[in-house]
Amino acid sequence: MKKFLKNKRIGIIGFAKSGIAAANLAAELGAQVFITETRAKKECASQLKGLKNGIELEFGGHSDRILGSSMIIKSPGVHGNIGVLKKARRKKIPVISEVEFALRYSRPGRLVAITGTNGKTTVTTLIGEVFRNAGRKAIVAGNIGNPLSDYALNIGKKTSVVMEMSSYQLEDSLYFHPDISVILNITPDHIEHHRTMAKYVSAKKRIFLNQTQGDFCVLNYEDRTLLRIARKCPAKVVFFSNRRKLEKGAYYKDGVIRVNTGTKKAVLKVVPMMPGMHNIDNILAAAASCVCAGIRGPVIEKTINSFKGVEHRIEFVREVKGVKYYNDSKATNVDSTRVALESFDSSVWLILGGRGKGAPYSPLRQYVEERTKGIILIGEDAPRIKEELKGAARMYDCRDMKNALRLASTIASGGDVVLLSPACASFDQYKNFEERGLHFKRLVKSL
Ligand code: ADP
Repeated sequence: MKKFLKNKRIGIIGFAKSGIAAANLAAELGAQVFITETRAKKECASQLKGLKNGIELEFGGHSDRILGSSMIIKSPGVHGNIGVLKKARRKKIPVISEVEFALRYSRPGRLVAITGTNGKTTVTTLIGEVFRNAGRKAIVAGNIGNPLSDYALNIGKKTSVVMEMSSYQLEDSLYFHPDISVILNITPDHIEHHRTMAKYVSAKKRIFLNQTQGDFCVLNYEDRTLLRIARKCPAKVVFFSNRRKLEKGAYYKDGVIRVNTGTKKAVLKVVPMMPGMHNIDNILAAAASCVCAGIRGPVIEKTINSFKGVEHRIEFVREVKGVKYYNDSKATNVDSTRVALESFDSSVWLILGGRGKGAPYSPLRQYVEERTKGIILIGEDAPRIKEELKGAARMYDCRDMKNALRLASTIASGGDVVLLSPACASFDQYKNFEERGLHFKRLVKSL
């Protein structure tokens, strides 16, 4: 490997997955690498072993040492206006994102990028599977938990990259230019980080900022925000809808998906294994993207019909005494809980709560009234939920998962559903949503 960064000092802000991957890539390219992190060393101990030799580190806060770098790579969780980054800008040190750093050293034959408030991981995974089943070499990377920097040096013209992009990653993007972009939906989320909905939408829009008429952008026709921003999209827009027939675009009716991109067409008979109309949206977006990429209909159809979905997304766990238990721990915002409730007719005992993200819970009221037998609260946002959904259903404040399941298993009766779909982040009681989902599943299995 040519040492493109020999004698260069690269600074990295943030010692987590993408920071570590970027550091290793920079070291591989011959740079002197320095990482700075606000957490204490002992909190990061388990990640240290993933780091290449010779990389220097500082913990417990950002000193000015990073200002000696010729370039700074910013991890997505780090706020753009922290003091040390302001100083870096004043010193005209280029600050780039991990994704754009990785893309400098990889040349994918095709880049597909997926964003949206909800459904990113499901759609990214599904598109990756279609590409592989079509015999293409495909790497699935990005926010899905696989930083692109880990693969960059192995990505050449014959490789397609399917990237999940979060709003955090997009807000730092300057040159990002996918061949096919997808925005699934935009509903309130991460307001604590972006401050306003307008800023959140602006970040998402950056996915198509550098696209041209030779590229495709797949958008949800039923999302008002997306319909509005489509007018400013420089790529060829391919809309999808689960509700109405679109002459051009992709739509679903009675088990059939029809895609017409303007130049390519496909008719797919689908029998989805994933529940809910939101998953029809996900399948439509994936099918439209794959048709844009020139993949034949039968491969897309076959992959869709065998795709079971991803763990922690309305995942069936077990039936006990006629009560079905579902794990939707990845429902970390209000809209993902709404679609989960929409996927069940009624008789749901909903386990709700955790660390709130500042968005209102009131959009859940109608669904809670119509589809639940009661709400079982956990976590630190319980008082707010109680207040905002007052009178919508019976509520029990159980504080934690163990108590929640103990109660659920005694009050639920045959035919009911117990659904963990918290509408909140997990960080008040768990390391992440995976740990919360696994805890729920363990408790259900021991009932
Ligand atoms: P993301 O990667 O955007 O968080 P996931 O595929 O991991 O998306 O799903 C996250 C949560 O959102 C899950 O609870 C899932 O059931 C729900 N969800 C999935 N697709 C959609 C969609 N199209 N619209 C709304 N919610 C969705």
